[in-house]
Amino acid sequence: MKFSSLLMCALAPFVSSSMSGFEADPELERFVMGLPKAELHLHMEGTVEPEVFLEIAARNGMDMPYKDAEAVKERMRSAYDLPSFIEMYEELIGVVRHPEDIRDITLHYYRKAYSQGVRRVEMYFDPQLHLERGMTLEEVFTGLAMGKAAAEAELDDLTIGFIMAFLRDRPAEAAMQVLEDAKPWHSMLLGVGLDNPEVEDFPTKFKEVYARAKSYGLRLTSHCDVQQKNTIAHHWGVIKVLGVERIDHGLNVLDDPELLAEVKKRGIGLTGVPSLFYREMPGRMEYRAGAIKGLLDAGVEISIHSDDPGMKRGLYVGDLMLRAQATAGMTREDLVTMAKNSFRTAWITDEECSNWLAAIDGYVAKFE
Ligand SMILES: [Zn+2]
Repeated sequence: MKFSSLLMCALAPFVSSSMSGFEADPELERFVMGLPKAELHLHMEGTVEPEVFLEIAARNGMDMPYKDAEAVKERMRSAYDLPSFIEMYEELIGVVRHPEDIRDITLHYYRKAYSQGVRRVEMYFDPQLHLERGMTLEEVFTGLAMGKAAAEAELDDLTIGFIMAFLRDRPAEAAMQVLEDAKPWHSMLLGVGLDNPEVEDFPTKFKEVYARAKSYGLRLTSHCDVQQKNTIAHHWGVIKVLGVERIDHGLNVLDDPELLAEVKKRGIGLTGVPSLFYREMPGRMEYRAGAIKGLLDAGVEISIHSDDPGMKRGLYVGDLMLRAQATAGMTREDLVTMAKNSFRTAWITDEECSNWLAAIDGYVAKFE
């Protein structure tokens, strides 16, 4: 692995992080954008930015009710909670029809994330959403492979893997079917996850699916979204019944001392997301950034991620680290610890992890 591009990145122009007048300290912004980090929690489908959405819709000859990017943003702004967000997300992803669409969406994401210091991507994707719209698994995996090949050839030191997500609000049988049908492409997968609305029978109904995935050598993670009904029980379920190694979001771990102790004991990584929906939601950033800081201070291996950067104001991981820092009063050391946590909990080899931790130390020592 070579790290020649790390310091170059620190000197490169930044991606704008403007949002509602937020302005980061320029010195800290330069530091954060160049800090190597792993992105462990983002959804391919949620990386679609309004402009890319319109390009793909036009290419596919689809007549959409949005005349320009601002109209698409307006649709994104209509989401205010998890169900309304997912409804919008499923509508917009409807323009994806061909492998080339997935290639273009992901390549756009990789370039932008790379400009903010991301050197490892573990990308979620939802095959069921695409199968339901008539795409084949082969087309989905082909698109992902095309984007990965193009990005890894273009962007020094970047490595990419995939997490195949099952939809929590669909039957476990459907998840099992996808797991089996995807066998020809299992070598492209790091692991499996669960996303979409957090329904009542989650997570127990997926016990057999997860046991099967594990038997195929796949790693295990699952969403436990923030402040959902029965959230503490769901966290215990994904740990004890499903046996996950990471939890996506997982911020309510802070609410239960016993759960917190178990997460630490097992070394479960949490992929925190401070990002907001497009719509302003007073207090939400304060709550999320505060919980991330609380978990970090409690010694949990938590890191910051972007989830659905295209559909949530175009905020990427560097932008979010800066906002969380400003909101919750994090120190520079906190940001470095989270960057290290992102590699510690990434599904990479021990050697790769050691190399990245050393690269971070080198970056911090040399940063002027
Ligand atoms: Zn997510």
